[in-house]
Amino acid sequence: MSIHKLQVEAIQQGTVIDHIPAGNGLKIINRLQLLNSDVRLTVGLNLPSGEMGCKDLIKVDQWRFTQDEAAELALFAPNATINVINDYKVVDKFRMSQPEELNGLFDCPNHNCITHNEPVDTKFYVRNSGADMKLRCHYCERSFSSALFG
Ligand SMILES: [Zn+2]
Repeated sequence: MSIHKLQVEAIQQGTVIDHIPAGNGLKIINRLQLLNSDVRLTVGLNLPSGEMGCKDLIKVDQWRFTQDEAAELALFAPNATINVINDYKVVDKFRMSQPEELNGLFDCPNHNCITHNEPVDTKFYVRNSGADMKLRCHYCERSFSSALFG
């Protein structure tokens, strides 16, 4: 069995998130556990990847994304590949797509932002700036690197 095969040990049913930028795997795990504390994870960090140099990979047993969950995770892995597994086979495969807006998912990093004092949902507009993603707060209108989130 090749090393590559060992990295992607089969799961019967669930989701494999592949091609996560190295270092962001842990952020995704934190978010996943907030979504569902019973979720069973297999994690590979800093795996060699031809196209990216290094990558993280997460296998989630018995689990599928909702659209909202995918949008939330896309912040940390905009180009990750999602493999939906059924009966040990990849039955669907798609790229995580970058959301245009994130509503109510993250706190604003600006401590003076009104969202910390008023009962409103946070709202961010997402845009690409080179390799990084920037989020602009709807309320205080400041822009933040996605690295500040999670
Ligand atoms: Zn703000």
